Amino acid sequence: MNSIAESYDVIVVGAGPAGLAAAATAVQAGGSVALIDAGAESGGQYWRGAAGAAPGSRVRAYDALVAELAGVTQLPLHWVHTITNESGRWRLDCTVGPEPRAAHTAVSVHGSRLILATGAYDRQLPFPGWDLPGVLTAGGVQALLKGHGVLAGRSIVVAGTGPFLLPVAAGLVKAGAQVPAVLEANSPMGFAAHPRAVLASGRKVAEAARYAGVLARSRTPYRHRHAVVEAIGDGRVEAVRVARLDSSGRVAGPVRTVACDVLAVGWGFTAQLELLLQVGCGSTLGADGGLVVAVDRDQHTDVGNVWAAGEPTGIGGSDLAVVEGRIAGLAATGRAVPAELYARHRRLRRFADALHAVHPVPAFLINDLPDSTTVCRCEEVTAGSVREAANEFGATDTRTVKLLARTGMGWCQGRVCGYATAQLTAAEAGRSVRLADLQTFAERPLAAPVPLRVLAESTESAPEENSGG
Ligand SMILES: Cc1cc2nc3c(=O)[nH]c(=O)nc-3n(C[C@H](O)[C@H](O)[C@H](O)COP(=O)(O)OP(=O)(O)OC[C@H]3O[C@@H](n4cnc5c(N)ncnc54)[C@H](O)[C@@H]3O)c2cc1C
Repeated sequence: MNSIAESYDVIVVGAGPAGLAAAATAVQAGGSVALIDAGAESGGQYWRGAAGAAPGSRVRAYDALVAELAGVTQLPLHWVHTITNESGRWRLDCTVGPEPRAAHTAVSVHGSRLILATGAYDRQLPFPGWDLPGVLTAGGVQALLKGHGVLAGRSIVVAGTGPFLLPVAAGLVKAGAQVPAVLEANSPMGFAAHPRAVLASGRKVAEAARYAGVLARSRTPYRHRHAVVEAIGDGRVEAVRVARLDSSGRVAGPVRTVACDVLAVGWGFTAQLELLLQVGCGSTLGADGGLVVAVDRDQHTDVGNVWAAGEPTGIGGSDLAVVEGRIAGLAATGRAVPAELYARHRRLRRFADALHAVHPVPAFLINDLPDSTTVCRCEEVTAGSVREAANEFGATDTRTVKLLARTGMGWCQGRVCGYATAQLTAAEAGRSVRLADLQTFAERPLAAPVPLRVLAESTESAPEENSGG
């Protein structure tokens, strides 16, 4: 049965670094604040497991934010699937439980103002063998380790691009895995072009140096300008084929084979925008070429009474997420944002932009992708079919490619294949990716899986004006 919960002045969705900071800040204004998250514990991705950490290994920044939450109503295990506006107030329909598909309870939470801090998920790109069991995303491998203390394998190659590869590889080494290689597709020399951004971010540089120290002490090979070009194995991954890349991201050297039982591959992150797009927020292209929500300097979106914080406004890591949460919490409760907070935001955003400039997705992944490689795993569409839609049938945009080739029409609704399809379509058309290419795959009517029974009940309980939706 669908129950109508209380109503709040501010509802924050997402209890990661951004949402925790937003709720902690908003509650200081004295109104009622709800903090909703799908997880059993707060912390999001960066502080996954921090709530249950042993006394000797507590995470101070997380504990400090949680201590500020007195007065906030925390609603864990709440999966927000739909947000609607009912006569100027927001109604958030949630399923409640550890697994949304099996949820027995449905709840509607109401509020005047929304702060959406829904984080991001791993950006994936196809390559030959990427669908073999044992090929995992770097974030997935990290989540298994941090959330459950589980090593995804015994011998794990970590590959892709970006600073995230370092904590993943260091965490695996510390937990006892063998890491035959860490393969970074780009080069740290790229930071030479961004001295201001690097100098202003000493804490982040020190953090990266700590992870690099773990890798050096364990003699874990770290190779920049190297990438996995193929995962191979009989029924599951047994080895990867590795090549050297040139500065334009094309394969430049001989291919060698590295044995492993897991490949953890990370090409950055994709902002989780379903709820923001549902309520009508405008989107734009982020510095990493992904789709993000457009906000002003107070984190306000272009929809009244909706603010966004953290990864949905541009992938930038946990420090930036906390600052954006603070700004959103202040702005949503009508208080002034101190100039120092804006300045911190500018510094951290500049650093994030530099990271993205130094770690682009290498060109070989799209341009040299064999026609036979599956791009859309749900609908089993190959790169050749996407190219055929563009070249033989004249599709010049992703919406038409989607209609002709069926990429993004399956279960994941483009979460996995959307970015790659946009890149392939743009490459065939001889242009760069446009906003519309990514928007095609980002809009989903439900932000989380919902049993049909629950959906029917929440529609029945909606007032007349909404009952057709
Ligand atoms: C799998 C993964 C692992 C990562 N691990 C690390 C790491 O170890 N170190 C690091 O520096 N960075 C890591 N990151 C990067 C991470 O995105 C940021 O560092 C940081 O966590 C961003 O904070 P955030 O608050 O913006 O988002 P998040 O921390 O992602 O928090 C978003 C929260 O929103 C909740 N949420 C989303 N949608 C809904 C919904 N519909 N209903 C209810 N709740 C919802 C999620 O459950 C989540 O708790 C990881 C990213 C991913 C995707």
